[in-house]
Amino acid sequence: MPKIEALMPLQQVDQEIHRLRMQRDEKPRALAPLEARLARAKENLEGVRAEIKALKLEGQKREHSVKELEDKIQKLQAQANMARKNDEYQAFQKEISGIKADKQRIEDGLLDIYMQVDEKGKLEKVRDSEVKAADGECAIARKQNEAEIAELDRKISELAARREELAGAVDRELLARYDRVLRVKDDGVALAPIVIYESIEDEGVRKYWGCGGCSVGVTSQDVNEVRRAKDILSCRSCSRLLYWPEEGKAS
Ligand SMILES: [Zn+2]
Repeated sequence: MPKIEALMPLQQVDQEIHRLRMQRDEKPRALAPLEARLARAKENLEGVRAEIKALKLEGQKREHSVKELEDKIQKLQAQANMARKNDEYQAFQKEISGIKADKQRIEDGLLDIYMQVDEKGKLEKVRDSEVKAADGECAIARKQNEAEIAELDRKISELAARREELAGAVDRELLARYDRVLRVKDDGVALAPIVIYESIEDEGVRKYWGCGGCSVGVTSQDVNEVRRAKDILSCRSCSRLLYWPEEGKAS
């Protein structure tokens, strides 16, 4: 009759393996805030670059308009010079001064655009340095993260080898039973002690024996069997293999 105690060292190693695997799975997520910061910094930089592009385009449009108006003024001036009557000449001059005023407005706007391009250019430099800083931090963190993952992998494979060793010493049938439970548990725990639970009910506090894994009650007959190591029983609810804890721990 194999004893459940034979599984204890194995359970210890499996729990440790489970713990390390959880840590390992968490690792890539640790980079998420830094990567989000980098993405935001890149977005900001692209945003300011798009603004600069739009401003320059608007500037070109206005420069083109200024050029057009200058051509128009020149033509009108030539026509005015050929005018034979004074009132004709005056009419040209009036039109010309109207266009000059338009041109002035556009040029004032252009100046404003040039200033904005200048300001945005300074902002672009700031945003660019933010991207570089976030990128650098990300690279360092990724490298560190990779090293931590490698270290965890190393520990896990070390423990896996240790597990092989321990498993070899366990009765095969019992090991198969244990492994079946372990596979379906998401906490790496296939063994459970029988413990005393207290529940507060109308009649007062009721004490009962239960599975230390899932807290579902265990019959006193089963408790006796486990206690006397007559048989290896599974919890009826969570299927974990039940064991009797060392004296003084059954509470
Ligand atoms: Zn249970």
